[in-house]
Amino acid sequence: MIHSEPDLTARAVNLLNCGVVVLDANHEIVLWNGWMVPRSGRAASRVRNQSLFDVFPVLRGSRVEAAVLGALADNVTTAIPQTEEHSPFPLRQAGSFDGPPIDQAVTVTPFSEGDERFCLIEIRDVSGTVDRERRLLDHAESLRARSYVDGLTGISNRRYFDVALDRELRRAQRAGGELSLLLIDIDSFKAYNDHFGHQQGDACLVTVAQALAGQLKRPADIAARYGGEEFAAILPDTSAEQALTVANAIREHVASLGLEHAPAAAHPVVTLSIGVASFDRERLHEPAALVEAADKALYAAKHAGRNRVVSSAQA
Ligand code: GH3
Ligand code: MG
Ligand code: MG
Repeated sequence: MIHSEPDLTARAVNLLNCGVVVLDANHEIVLWNGWMVPRSGRAASRVRNQSLFDVFPVLRGSRVEAAVLGALADNVTTAIPQTEEHSPFPLRQAGSFDGPPIDQAVTVTPFSEGDERFCLIEIRDVSGTVDRERRLLDHAESLRARSYVDGLTGISNRRYFDVALDRELRRAQRAGGELSLLLIDIDSFKAYNDHFGHQQGDACLVTVAQALAGQLKRPADIAARYGGEEFAAILPDTSAEQALTVANAIREHVASLGLEHAPAAAHPVVTLSIGVASFDRERLHEPAALVEAADKALYAAKHAGRNRVVSSAQA
């Protein structure tokens, strides 16, 4: 059997997995392939010889109209990408009139046949690609969020602490507000590890971190793992006096858990030493200075026998 080439071409174009539309110089539709039919809700016989802009009035003044005019008047080829908000053509997924819109990549290409000028419009469904990009962006977002979380304890990590302390100090400066910082260190933790092993040491760190986070009642309070067996709490809108109360509540709570400690430890149960420093417009307004003041207070708490809270004003 002999097939004519134009017949085969017409069938193949109808079966293409992308939209194919050809317009003449008057913007009238001379070809509307099978892909377009279910996605536009319009049969080829209904749109043939009609202006594209009568079939889709929303295209007037659009990027598609500009591309068609550019092709027919100036012989210019244009690619129209999908944007966040706009699909080039008002098309919907096949099989549903109010189905999800199709994300599209469109190309408009001029061509001539004899003396007549035409333009070819190709429409590709890039919904899958756009979805994939969105998923990748979501994934990157969750990775970034995870990089602010300490892998062992699940509370904020040192990276987040640095960012948050800087941010909260600026806020306190600007608003003339208060801000306190607690540096918290587990007493005799080397002895704990030596006696119970590193794995149980890790489990103890998780318990202490969760206990700390549980004691911070305000949504703006931040509990972070500062390093090894050291933790920190950033307390916005909290005076030195209020911070001492919070620090003592944390210390008492952890001691009351009654976590058995190593025989060589300073106390029979796991305890904390805490240094407190508060934002001071004149003296303590830089992150490094505030951390240093809290660290000095923490050192004083260790020196005074551990399982206690010392404020930088006393240290
Ligand atoms: P102090 O009461 O003076 O704080 O004594 P310490 O033994 O707690 O202090 P030091 O800083 O000398 O020791 C801290 C120990 O914490 C050292 C290390 O064995 C342990 N450590 C640090 N990070 C981790 C960790 O991620 N997991 C475990 N299991 N142990 C850790
Ligand atoms: Mg330490
Ligand atoms: Mg320690």
